Amino acid sequence: KGPDPDLVAIVERMATVKHKILVLSGKGGVGKSTFSAQLAFALAARDFEVGLLDIDICGPSIPKMLGLEGREIRRSNCGWIPVYVESNLGVISIGFTIPNPDEAVIWRGPRKTGLIKQFLRDVDWGELDFLVVDAPPGTSDEHISIVQFLQATGIDGAVIVTTPQQVSLIDVRKEVSFCKKVGVEVLGVVENMSGLSQPLSEFKFTRTTETGEQKDMTEWAMSYMRENAPEMLNLIACTEVFDTSGGGAAKMCNDMGVPFLGKVPLDPQLCKAAEEGRSCFSDDKCQASAPALKMIIEKM
Ligand code: ADP
Repeated sequence: KGPDPDLVAIVERMATVKHKILVLSGKGGVGKSTFSAQLAFALAARDFEVGLLDIDICGPSIPKMLGLEGREIRRSNCGWIPVYVESNLGVISIGFTIPNPDEAVIWRGPRKTGLIKQFLRDVDWGELDFLVVDAPPGTSDEHISIVQFLQATGIDGAVIVTTPQQVSLIDVRKEVSFCKKVGVEVLGVVENMSGLSQPLSEFKFTRTTETGEQKDMTEWAMSYMRENAPEMLNLIACTEVFDTSGGGAAKMCNDMGVPFLGKVPLDPQLCKAAEEGRSCFSDDKCQASAPALKMIIEKM
């Protein structure tokens, strides 16, 4: 039996892609897509040619996050053409192929594998410095497929995104063990939503009245601070939103012998930017992930 012709075609197509980075998470909703998008933007901002491939087949969030809903993948003689958000940043998402975003995608493993194969074989990325792959949460068919296909062409490694609480970290351990089993280097773990830091001047203050109503006290609190202790308005209030008594991702990384890439706090500006479909990284206020991004880029 000769070599798998699909695999041969993938290897040929990927020959013009220098680096491939997989972004993984144990659970959904921890910020994996947000981080993938930021990594892609950060690389593009450094003038690299970048592709962002969203293979989260059951919940593709990249199109919404980047304001690309309703866009379609066009085809040319050379293959499928990515949707470009910058001249050097092309995006491909399963979301572009589903006409109704409210529709549930109920596919069994082989069909998912088929689409991932098609994305890697048929998309005409051109010459790329980096391909960032936003994978679905967990370790299922899609992961085995993408790793198998990319390993044939060389994969740099995986970045794992987690939140600080134990329930998320338990699944990250599985993710690390998956990478070790399939021979993918763990480039590092990012702890996202790690506490909330917000200037006191941006807080809303309320008080519960005798009748149980919530009364807005923001105006009162602000003018009280302005008059009596204006320096308070420059303070940043830091709250550990999740229980980190277990040591968070840093301790887990230490236990498992993988690099810790740092903490990204909950950032209301970042969330707002993603909801509005604005590219997260181009917003000056959305640079909470910058240290983690720098560490990844420096490893390449
Ligand atoms: P996942 O890909 O892991 O499912 P997403 O990237 O879709 O997670 O993020 C889930 C939600 O959390 C989105 O609404 C996103 O804007 C928000 N989010 C992610 N990271 C942060 C952060 N550091 N601060 C504020 N909101 C965040």
